[in-house]
Amino acid sequence: MREIRYLGDPVLRTAAEPVTEFDRDLRRLIDEMFATMYLANGVGLAGPQIGVPKRLFVYEITNRKGHVVNPELTIDDPDEVVEEEGCLSVPGRETGKPLYAPTPRAAGVTVRGFDQLGRPLAITARGMLARCFQHEFDHLEGRLYVDRLPRDTARQIMLQTP
Ligand code: ZN
Repeated sequence: MREIRYLGDPVLRTAAEPVTEFDRDLRRLIDEMFATMYLANGVGLAGPQIGVPKRLFVYEITNRKGHVVNPELTIDDPDEVVEEEGCLSVPGRETGKPLYAPTPRAAGVTVRGFDQLGRPLAITARGMLARCFQHEFDHLEGRLYVDRLPRDTARQIMLQTP
């Protein structure tokens, strides 16, 4: 279990560095990321969100669970889909729970990367999983979902954060 970093922490606004060692420390880090995500009732968590500026994320959504190291994201279907989206790093001041807003994302993506042993993997996704992959990939580029909202909506969200 690791401490989750919140909006305003510079690590969330920094592009993460590639993972170079596929070792025991990496496997421990992935375990800790899953534990942290589950405890917070999240469906995805990226390295920077626990203060680790490395390019990896974990996810579990609609019975699909996994992790991706050094991901690359390809848009397969650029049709824009707008659905409610939130982030463990953007909690409400009152509730401590993620703040949600309708957020535009591409309908279909493929993520290519590596597993914890350095084996290549590729996952094609639509729907909520595709949204999750785009959200987590954004974290590795120092972006947050609020960056994709209309300015007024983003401001409303910011006003509710700690
Ligand atoms: Zn997030």
